[in-house]
Amino acid sequence: MPEQSAQKTLALIAHDGKKADMVAFVIDHKARLREFNLVATKTTGQLIKEKAGLDASRMLSGPYGGDAQIAAMVAEGRVTAVFFFVDPLGKHPHDPDIQSLLRICNVHNVPLATNAATAELLIQA
Ligand code: PGA
Repeated sequence: MPEQSAQKTLALIAHDGKKADMVAFVIDHKARLREFNLVATKTTGQLIKEKAGLDASRMLSGPYGGDAQIAAMVAEGRVTAVFFFVDPLGKHPHDPDIQSLLRICNVHNVPLATNAATAELLIQA
């Protein structure tokens, strides 16, 4: 069993309108996800624990800076891939943080799944 620090880290984030999709994704891929360190925004992380029994390090909630915290981790090279299920129909007070996270993933060429269909492909990679 590798040291936790040697494991790769995945970030999991879902907007409220996509949290059901995230829970379904995590349940479907629970065994695979267990192979990684997981980091999540607060509410997403709580749901993953409650519904799937998986532990993720919890950052702040997205609107309170959680997306920005995860963006910083990506910039520091500490995240292997980001699963960020965005709700394109919702209004988000933290839209600047959301755009920043998406941008930082692209700046650093970090795989980024913004919907469940892409997440399915990425988790199989
Ligand atoms: P949450 O944050 O998991 O705390 O709801 C996600 C977000 O809105 O970016």
